[in-house]
Amino acid sequence: AAPAVYDVTTQLLRDWPLPMPGCDGDKEERGHVLILGGSREMPGAVILAATAALRAGAGKLTVATGASVAQLVALALPEARVIGLAETDAGGFLPEAIARLDPLADRVNAMLIGPGMQDEAAAAELVHGLLERLQGSEDGSKTAVVLDACAMGTLLHAPPGWAPGEAFRFGQPVIVTPHCGEMAHLTGIEKTDIVSGPDARALASAAAWNAVVALKGARTVIAAPQGDMWQHEGGNVGLAISGSGDTLAGIIAGLAARGATLEQAACWGVALHARAGERLAERMGVLGYLAREIANEIPALLESIA
Ligand code: AMP
Ligand code: MG
Repeated sequence: AAPAVYDVTTQLLRDWPLPMPGCDGDKEERGHVLILGGSREMPGAVILAATAALRAGAGKLTVATGASVAQLVALALPEARVIGLAETDAGGFLPEAIARLDPLADRVNAMLIGPGMQDEAAAAELVHGLLERLQGSEDGSKTAVVLDACAMGTLLHAPPGWAPGEAFRFGQPVIVTPHCGEMAHLTGIEKTDIVSGPDARALASAAAWNAVVALKGARTVIAAPQGDMWQHEGGNVGLAISGSGDTLAGIIAGLAARGATLEQAACWGVALHARAGERLAERMGVLGYLAREIANEIPALLESIA
């Protein structure tokens, strides 16, 4: 029998409350999020993702981005500590970034890698290096890692020592957020086949990769490695816009930093993102609101759902 697919309704979210900081909580308790990405050509993606993580309630923000754009990103994000990383010619990060981020990696509660990143091979080397460090530390092995965009290519570039031909599996809590085109790239399956059977694909990939998979679209399916599945249908075509996915990934990372489980962060994040689009469409019209406006809706939505 096909596994049950739960609808992400307001009631489901209310029955699955997010961890809340105490009234006397400090910013560490509210969760520290690291956003890693951005490049000369796409510096804005980390700004969108980082803003979204704060709007989702995370307390402390560090951004690591290309040295060529770090000052610009810092000006746009006065809340952040910004680390500038040496870049490859293709706009990715040099492997020295692994050692640079190592002291931080297991101190953050959640890490989002990928928005605005270029150079898939360089991204994969960086992600594998960071995951290895995380897995080697007691705190780090619990750090939630969200991979989006270019960083999901990690699945296509197995780390050194991985048996040739053996499919790569994550050894640590990871969420990946592909749209159908990215899922096609990651699996080698035709996009039309993914569009016609998204549930089976999300479920199979979640099990194969040992990751929570949010397969995005007008209807988004969230699948967990153990076989649990959720669906969310909502939002509007106004969300089909540059930077929208970066914002979703930031919301999910922010919720994970607050202590939400991976499945919870994915389900809540997808619902908040869609409802933010609905609120914007009501006020402004369905076409023409900006990705940078989506995150502004999150705090009020969090209150209305809680
Ligand atoms: P990305 O393609 O990575 O920028 O992500 C786009 C985001 O917008 C995903 O969260 C999608 O679920 C959402 N989205 C895209 N198109 C639609 C649509 N027609 N209706 C509702 N949500 C959409
Ligand atoms: Mg995207």
